[in-house]
Formats: sequence, C-alpha cells, structure tokens
Amino acid sequence: MVIMRSTWLSNLKKSLRLRPPSKRMQYGAQYGFTSQAASPAYSHVGNEEEYADMDWDNLGFSLTPTDFMYAMKCTQGNNFTEGKLHPFGTIELSPCSAVLNYGQGIFEGMKAMRREDGRIVLFRPDENALRLQVGAERMCMPSPSVHHFLNAVKLTTLANKRWIPPPGKGTLYMRPMLLGTGSILGVGPAPEYTFLTYASPVGNYFQEGTTALNLYVEAEYDRASPGGTGGIKTISNYGPALKPLIRAKSRGFSDVLYLDSVHGKYIEEVSAGNVFLVKGNTISTPPATGTILPGITRKSIIEIASDLGYQVEERPITINELLRGDEVFGTGTAVVVAPVGSVTYKGERVEYQTGDNSVSKRLLSTYMGIQNGLIEDKKGWVMEIY
Ligand SMILES: *Cc1c(COP(=O)(O)O)cnc(C)c1O
Repeated sequence: MVIMRSTWLSNLKKSLRLRPPSKRMQYGAQYGFTSQAASPAYSHVGNEEEYADMDWDNLGFSLTPTDFMYAMKCTQGNNFTEGKLHPFGTIELSPCSAVLNYGQGIFEGMKAMRREDGRIVLFRPDENALRLQVGAERMCMPSPSVHHFLNAVKLTTLANKRWIPPPGKGTLYMRPMLLGTGSILGVGPAPEYTFLTYASPVGNYFQEGTTALNLYVEAEYDRASPGGTGGIKTISNYGPALKPLIRAKSRGFSDVLYLDSVHGKYIEEVSAGNVFLVKGNTISTPPATGTILPGITRKSIIEIASDLGYQVEERPITINELLRGDEVFGTGTAVVVAPVGSVTYKGERVEYQTGDNSVSKRLLSTYMGIQNGLIEDKKGWVMEIY
C-alpha cells in the first residue's frame, strides 16, 4: 500500500491552508509544509531542522505534546466528511456532553515510524480504522470511513513529522479518539460527535535490553463480561481497571492478568495487552470472542508465528495450564511483544524462560524487522506515507 507522496503533501498543504495564520503555522511551515516539502528531495535524515528539540536517546512513555492535532465533527445520523489540522491544545466541551456524563467514547492506539532511508511508515492502520468502526457501532456512534480515518492519521503524522524520533530511537504514538461531544441530559446517544487524533513521541519499550513483565493474576476484579464491552476500545473500560492495576503495582508487579468473569478460571488479558502461552512448538492465546480486545499486534503475531512454523491455537486457556507453560508473553502496540518473567496466582509465583533464545524474542525481531523494512513485507502490512 504505497501512497503517492505528492497527493499526500498536497492534501496536507490544503489542510494547513484552511487554518487561520498563526505563529504555530509558521512554525509548521518552517518544518516542511511549504513548497520545499513538495519537492522530490526529502533527504531529511541528518538534517537538524527535521527534528524537534528533544533528548531522543531518553524517550520514555510520558506525553510530549506535539504541534498539531486533527479534528472533525459530525452530527448524529450523518457521516464524517473532512476535518482539519489544528494547533495541539485544549478542546472545549459542554459539561452536558455525552462523553463526560455517560462515557460515550472510544479510542485507538497506533505508531508511525521513521526508517533508516527516511521513509515514514504506519503499520496496518486500516485495521485500526476498522476496529474503531466496530467499537463505534457498539457505542451508538457514527464513525469515520477507513478513508477518512487514514487521512486523519496521515495528516497528523506528517504535520508532526519533526516529532517522529530518529530511526531506532522510538516512534510517534498516535491516539485517534471518537467522542460523543454533543450535549444530552437523559441517558442517550450524543447529538454530535468529534473525531480527534493527537500524537506524542515515545521511546522503545526494549531500548535497554529486555525487561520481563511480572504479572499478578487478579481474582477479585473482572475486566469484562460476556455481552459487555471488553472487545472494544471504549474509554469506559479503563477507569475501572485502574484500581486493580495500581494495587498490583503497589505490590511490585508490572501488570494485572485478568481471568474470565464467568468461571474465574480462564486467562483473558492484561490491562492493555493480549497474552500468549508457549509450550513446545505450540503457541496459544485466548479467543477474541467479546471479552478481550482483538489486538492488531495479536493478530499479526498469530500470522507471523504460523509462518515461522509454530502451531498456533486460539482457544480457552486455564490459569493452571498457563502456570505449566514454557514461556508467556504479552502483545500490544506500545510494548509490541513483551516477555513475561513470572506469573503470581494465589500466592504461588511461577517463572518462565525469557531472553535471547526465547520464542517471544524471535517473534519480536520478525515483527520489528517487517516494520523497519529489514524483512520483506509480503503481506502489505506497512503503509508508506512519506
Ligand atoms: C489496545 C489494547 C490491546 C492491544 O491492541 P493492539 O492493537 O495490539 O495495540 C489489548 N488489550 C487491551 C485491553 C487494549 O486496550
């Protein structure tokens, strides 16, 4: 999926022209939204002006606000059409908005990265667009078409290009959101919706060697239940997960591993990541049947693992089976593939293989290789946008 660069730049310029002139805009223009950027020469790697003033070697996961965000609105019963870039900043919301009163909102998480050759790529962004549509349907919200979603994330990426870390130093994390911003007093869907996308540079989770996760199996709190919203990225799933997460962290764990809410017996996922079990040549993961979030990293790792010759199974996995595994790992856009060093269940701590010879390391290297272009992208997963 190679997008013609010239089309993108002309759209970007058009979008920028829609905005009133501001100091920010000149700032943006200085960094490549003028005729300069439209020229075929894009040798920006090593060009100081191409980068924001950041300590790129010490990027963490905290928010670094960037120059622009993208926004578009639509009313209930209509479709999103075109939005535009705005300087990143606060948004105004009525206290009666549906998102504030009734949690009518969903989000996405994705990354843009800069390759060694200067190309800027997104990874399977169409999957995020489709997942947002599924979530929107569940939450009674209109959603942007795949085309409009992709337009938004591409514009957000390119407008904040100087915030995309140098190759290998990190990525530009993007957060598309769909919010019921219209006012409503009684419980009901909002009369108006806003689709927003903002971005922040983030570091590589595995910059300093591999930090294995220590998981705490949560037996008291549930994350999701059949018929609920565990399968979509609605904002209302995350507030209730804070208490178990903070408690696990205060006890020295990295994250919570949830069990199913019906039997309290089958593993589901961690706070914001999917879970896999390795036993011999078999890699298993719980089925995405509504109570776990169908991760795009999960889906990609399932394919990569089968291609590498592992037997991959999506099936219910009991906590007892997990405790007898060789390896356990988590997946998600932020961590990519994170090895699990230990799982603690009812006071019993079980440790797993991690390190350079692990299956999770092999999967991580293959996945990253496809993203950064070292391994041929035979599946059309990588979308080049610049
Ligand atoms: C976002 C998320 C994931 C991971 O999804 P990816 O598409 O791989 O980033 C898994 N579980 C939960 C609960 C999530 O919110």
